[in-house]
Amino acid sequence: MNLPFRIDLRNKVIVITGAGGILCSHLAKAVAACGAKVALLDLNKEAAQMQAEEIGSIGGIAKAYQANVLRKDSLEACHEQILKDFGSCDILINGAGGNNPKATTDNEFAEVEDVTKDFKTFFDLEQEGVEFVFNLNFLGTLLPTQVFAKDMVGRKDCSILNISSMNAYTPLTKIPAYSGSKAAVSNFTQWLAVHFSHIGIRVNAIAPGFFSTKQNEKLLWNSDGTPTSRTGKILAATPMGRFGVVDDLVGATLFLLSPQAAGFITGVCIPIDGGFSSYSGV
Ligand code: NAD
Repeated sequence: MNLPFRIDLRNKVIVITGAGGILCSHLAKAVAACGAKVALLDLNKEAAQMQAEEIGSIGGIAKAYQANVLRKDSLEACHEQILKDFGSCDILINGAGGNNPKATTDNEFAEVEDVTKDFKTFFDLEQEGVEFVFNLNFLGTLLPTQVFAKDMVGRKDCSILNISSMNAYTPLTKIPAYSGSKAAVSNFTQWLAVHFSHIGIRVNAIAPGFFSTKQNEKLLWNSDGTPTSRTGKILAATPMGRFGVVDDLVGATLFLLSPQAAGFITGVCIPIDGGFSSYSGV
């Protein structure tokens, strides 16, 4: 793997949730390339397994585990197994997250005539969908932290990396629950950084800008492969004029995980967004 730079993660156990997914499987490969023993957790065991095998095939140390970030018993069972396989967790990357169509409006702006139209307005959002998204992003960050950060207490050079989003700075249209839940992730990152400051566990986050992935493909691309109008808006609002690629996340991640480089940094969220969060549009 082509790393922007290398940090020494040999003998470090790194637990990554959502590691079968697009962004976090790439982060798993990056930390494995730095020598870490990587536990890839995902609800979808096959997806995590595929990534673990890929890491193994190029000489990395990785193992896949089925875990639900919304179930403490599932996380605790997984923790027990990781202790046996690799030992105590040094670094946790909370990567599992996402949105749900039941918490997404079809329209960007409410209009008076919407009541007569056959689409999903704010008034049609389903409580179940909103709860799902809030739980997945917020509780799905908090519960793995409760389970795996216990290993870090009283040990050196441990840290946590959460995955926030552009939505945490300014909400995006259509996705109120995802926006609110990522704002909660950024807020929780600061809260936890303070809470853990006396016991030496650093807590930071990255906020990826727009990456065209499986999670958001329906919002960005029509079924015939042409860009949706949202795609045009995103690129116009991204001063660097492109979507992010997974390699863009690696440098900030390694930097934040490195106690040598970022040993006095806790509670920050680094936007990796081509300037999106800085641009007013004018
Ligand atoms: P992805 O859908 O490719 O990966 C998410 C993974 O999480 C999937 O493998 C899924 O199986 C797993 N997962 C879902 N529910 C789970 C649960 N209950 N327990 C355990 N695992 C579960 O998404 P991605 O694009 O790689 O996103 C990774 C993270 O980055 C998410 O937190 C997402 O919100 C965030 N993010 C993504 C983007 C983007 O443009 N893709 C931008 C900003 C933030």
